[in-house]
Amino acid sequence: MRNAFGLMLASVVTASVIAAVWFFTASPRVDVAAPATVLAPPPVTVSAKPVPARDDVEVTAAIPEKTAASAPPKAACANPNALGVSRVVEIDTTGGPGFGFEHFKQLDFLADKEVVLTFDDGPWPANTPAVLKALADECTRAVFFPIGKHATYHPEILRQVAAAGHTIGAHTWSHANLNAKKMTDQQAKDEIEKGFSAVKLALGTAPAPFFRFPELQHGPAAMAYLGTRNVAIFSCDLDSFDFRAKDATQIVNTVMTKLDKLGKGIILMHDFQKHTAEALPTLLSRLKAGGYKVVQMKAKTSLQTLPEYDDALVKDMKLPVASTRPVGSVVQTVSE
Ligand SMILES: [Zn+2]
Repeated sequence: MRNAFGLMLASVVTASVIAAVWFFTASPRVDVAAPATVLAPPPVTVSAKPVPARDDVEVTAAIPEKTAASAPPKAACANPNALGVSRVVEIDTTGGPGFGFEHFKQLDFLADKEVVLTFDDGPWPANTPAVLKALADECTRAVFFPIGKHATYHPEILRQVAAAGHTIGAHTWSHANLNAKKMTDQQAKDEIEKGFSAVKLALGTAPAPFFRFPELQHGPAAMAYLGTRNVAIFSCDLDSFDFRAKDATQIVNTVMTKLDKLGKGIILMHDFQKHTAEALPTLLSRLKAGGYKVVQMKAKTSLQTLPEYDDALVKDMKLPVASTRPVGSVVQTVSE
């Protein structure tokens, strides 16, 4: 048995030696070749590729990060008579272009009877979901400018806005007037960046580089800053003044009267407002009946938020206090 076992062992050892010899003679070609084929092509492909002026789309496509500006694939519209979306425009926000004829006249991109629906100041319980439902019932899309603080209060509602395929920009952190006398350039920058970071924190993805000044108060320094950040600035063509309206009917009438006069435009509304949520189903059906078409604005690339604001916001959310004493040394039961 000992001999038989020894013979088996010897055979195994011999086989192993043969295998090992083969491995170290034949296989090195594979080992050497493998890294070369894996590593070599990508730099060659990337460096050899010409970079034309209009290469942004390809570069964006190569970045795996999801963008809030791009809509998820949607099911077909269940409403055959829906208002829908007549066309989608993609905005190259380089240099901070301005939109909305109330303040910016350069970019006249809407055809007659075309409108862009925009909603500020959300996300807010009940009202924002009602606005989303009205838009979904008409299979149409809008641009939302949420307030940073509100995004931190109700991130799940803002995620519903994104999930429905709407475009999401930002509207400062606390709805501060960036054109106020006491507003420093640093404070204005903080309001802008913290607002964008809050939206990103709520969504889990970067927002579109679309910004609307609270109260449409365009501070010159803040305007210049947004230009350096390649953020598009949104005014409006048509203010619904929905925050002042006594009821839904007044909002519908204001918008339709102004629109019939202008013929087209970016419409400013507030998903934060109850009357707006109530007015929207009627307003959308009036737009459809009036032959108006909805254009959705999307951004070519999403905003790169600044890491220092992202980090500061996460820390703020934990609401730190100065004292770190254990509960037993802070709270003592003195009578029961
Ligand atoms: Zn606002």
